[in-house]
Amino acid sequence: MRNSLLWKLTLAFMLVAIITAGLVAVFIRLTSVERLTRLIIDQQRSSLKTALIEYYTKNKSWDGLPAAWEEIRTHISPQPPTPPPQENDPFRNNPDGGPHPPNMRPAFFGFADANGKIIISVSTNSPAGSDAPSQAVQEGTPVTLDGVVIGTILESPFKPRFNPAENMFLNRTNDALMLGVAGAMLLALFLGILLARTLIRPIQALTRASQNIANGDLEQEVVVNSKDEIGQLAEAFNTMSREVARVNNLRRRMTADIAHDLRTPLTVIAGYVESMQDGILQPTPARLAIIYTEIERLQNLVGDLRMLSQVDAGELPLNLQIIHPHDLLEKALACFVPQAEMKGISVSITCPDKIPDIQVDEARMMQVFGNLLSNALRYTESGGAISLTAETDGGKVILTVRDNGAGISDEDLPNIFDRLYRGDKSRTQSGESGLGLAIAKGLILAHGGTIWAESVLGEYSAFHIVLPAHYN
Ligand code: ADP
Repeated sequence: MRNSLLWKLTLAFMLVAIITAGLVAVFIRLTSVERLTRLIIDQQRSSLKTALIEYYTKNKSWDGLPAAWEEIRTHISPQPPTPPPQENDPFRNNPDGGPHPPNMRPAFFGFADANGKIIISVSTNSPAGSDAPSQAVQEGTPVTLDGVVIGTILESPFKPRFNPAENMFLNRTNDALMLGVAGAMLLALFLGILLARTLIRPIQALTRASQNIANGDLEQEVVVNSKDEIGQLAEAFNTMSREVARVNNLRRRMTADIAHDLRTPLTVIAGYVESMQDGILQPTPARLAIIYTEIERLQNLVGDLRMLSQVDAGELPLNLQIIHPHDLLEKALACFVPQAEMKGISVSITCPDKIPDIQVDEARMMQVFGNLLSNALRYTESGGAISLTAETDGGKVILTVRDNGAGISDEDLPNIFDRLYRGDKSRTQSGESGLGLAIAKGLILAHGGTIWAESVLGEYSAFHIVLPAHYN
């Protein structure tokens, strides 16, 4: 459980939520206390000012103010009863140094008359009757009556004590914050699990599908509806799984086909040799020639398979030469002209003069064209035509072998380059290995080119070889 992604993701979401909510709570708590304190001070100062003006208007002097001060102060802000001083009570010690018993705690606001003489003290260093320090008067709040300054409210370094209503407000703010934090955590837990589950479900499906592949069930389809990275991963996985299954089927079919292709000539050879051993047949030159033909077929098949395995392993040695496309096409066609004439098929080469050279292994290219041309001759009726063309496209040279023969069905077309694929399915009679196009493709790929076919059944087939142009 501890190693599961669900657990890790949920924990990460929770942590982020707790840290964020905690920070927000602390920040709000700090700023709300500070703001509330400032608000209370401003309110109390303003009320005190009004009360002092009233007092002065009534008495025409400040005489008797110390006696009335407690009443004024209680009036402007009803104070809670002063608790006994605690060890950590910030009010315990006067910032000026001397300790104050609770009942002698300095007033939160002091007061000096118009001459700066202290009437109500805020500090033991400046007792009542002494002159207020000029800085304290400057920082204080002037009390004016008809535009004339009649005194100054002095600020105390102490913070005000909160009355019950204010304390209740602070406590409620705290409770609300705690509730908010708890709510945010619960929401984070819920959303975290939800999101983690949404993320993890396709990953679990992919894991199951991969395990099935590992157990030999190759064709797996993972259903993922999202288009995000996980969706793309699932799509790539499905494509891979389809391809693995396809290649595996191909391999199975190829093994079966090779076994079949080997068995046919071996059965013929074994039959003849056994009959000769038993004296049923005489080893005449004609019979030996049949045996030899079958041996040649076996040799060709083994040679083709060996070449394909070399191409697959990238171990096919290439003897690259620079050659003009026209020369290559001419050489390729030369061997097939007699056969074409015999079958009544016309052949032609079309190649523009201004075409770049190509760099190829001539012998390997002869093999490629040999396969393409022998197919073209086989699948084209008498009176048909085979054309070889070369053209240039950007930095590429395209060589095409085209015939107007049988054509290839849409069903066969995507598979003809597969190993041992035969469109006509009558391998034994055709005498062809079904490796011709696979070998052609392997050789062209080894040259850094591509080969593809287009065809319309009953009309034509065209095989295009695209090779990089060689510029001097
Ligand atoms: P094969 O040895 O059977 O010719 P290839 O690999 O050369 O094997 O060709 C594979 C299949 O492609 C053939 O069996 C045939 O069905 C089809 N094919 C190839 N070339 C042509 C063509 N020129 N016209 C029609 N079909 C073709």
